[in-house]
Amino acid sequence: MAQNSLIDLHCHSTASDGALSPTEVVNFACERGLKVLALTDHDSVSGVAEATAAAQGRLQLISGIEMSTVWRNFQIHVVGLFLDINHPLLQQSLEEQRLKRVERAEEIGRKLERLGFKDAYARTKAQAQPGASITRGNYARFIASTGVCRSSDEAFNKYLKRGRPAYVKTAWGSVERAVQTIRAAGGIAILAHPRRYQMTNTKLRELIAEFKQAGGEALEVASAQQRPCDRQYLAQLCQRFDLLASLGSDFHVQGAWRDLGFNLALPSDCTALWQSPLYAERFSIHAQFAQ
Ligand code: AMP
Ligand code: MN
Ligand code: MN
Ligand code: MN
Repeated sequence: MAQNSLIDLHCHSTASDGALSPTEVVNFACERGLKVLALTDHDSVSGVAEATAAAQGRLQLISGIEMSTVWRNFQIHVVGLFLDINHPLLQQSLEEQRLKRVERAEEIGRKLERLGFKDAYARTKAQAQPGASITRGNYARFIASTGVCRSSDEAFNKYLKRGRPAYVKTAWGSVERAVQTIRAAGGIAILAHPRRYQMTNTKLRELIAEFKQAGGEALEVASAQQRPCDRQYLAQLCQRFDLLASLGSDFHVQGAWRDLGFNLALPSDCTALWQSPLYAERFSIHAQFAQ
C-alpha cells in the first residue's frame, strides 16, 4: 500500500492549468496531511501570495514555478523552489514567457477553429482564471468539455501533442537560462519528471549533464504514475551526476492519478533536498519525518 508523503514539491493551481485555486490546493494538502508543499504553476508565480496566506500556521508553502524550456527538439520543464518572486530577472523572464504563451495559445486556438472548435481560444480562456497561464492542459479540458472527446487525455493525444493537428512548436527559453533565472532569484533548480520526455537514455544523460553544468541541483526522482524501475534509474542518475533528489505529484485535479503526496517515496540510495546540508534548513520539518 502506497504511503502519503509529508512533502510534495510539484503541483498546480488555477494560476495555470490546475483545477483548484491556490487556497483550495493548500486546503487539500492539509486534508491529506502534508507538512511542506511547493506551488509550481507553469511559467507563473501569481498563485504564490494567496497560497502563502492560506498556508499560514498550517504547512510550509514554498514559492515555486515550473518553467517551460526547449532543449534540442524537446520541451523540458524546470522546477524552481524557494524563489524571491519579486526578483527583477525572474519577473522579466516570466513576462517573456507570458507573451510567448499568449501568442501560442492564440495560434492553438486558430488551429482548433479550423478543426471546428468555434471560439476555441476565447472559450478556453473563459474557463481559466483571469491572467492564468493558458497551457495545453487548459485546451485539453476545453476540448473534453465540448463532448468531442471523452477525456482531456484523449483530447491531448488526438489534437495537442507533438505531431497532432493543433500542436504549435514554441520557442521557450533554454534550460540554461531557466536555471540561471531560478538561481538568480535565490532558488533551487530541479529537472522535472525526467522520464516523461520520451528521449533515449543517452540523450537524457546529455540533458542532465548540461542541466548540471548550468547550475541545476536536483532531479525529480519520484513523481506520480511512474514505473518503479524509472524511479530507481533516476536515483542512480542522481548518484552518477552528483545531484540531489526531489519529489512531486504534479497534481492538477482532485481524484485523478496524481493526488497530492500520493506514492512519492524516494529510493534510499539518493539524497533528498531536505537531507542535504546545503538545503535542510530551508525545510521546516526535520528530515527524519519527511517521508
Ligand atoms: P504546455 O506547457 O502548454 O505545453 O502544456 C503542458 C501541460 O499539458 C502539462 O503540464 C499537463 O498539464 C498537460 N498535459 C500533458 N499531457 C497531457 C495529457 N496526456 N492529457 C492531458 N493533459 C496533458
Ligand atoms: Mn500542467
Ligand atoms: Mn511538467
Ligand atoms: Mn507540472
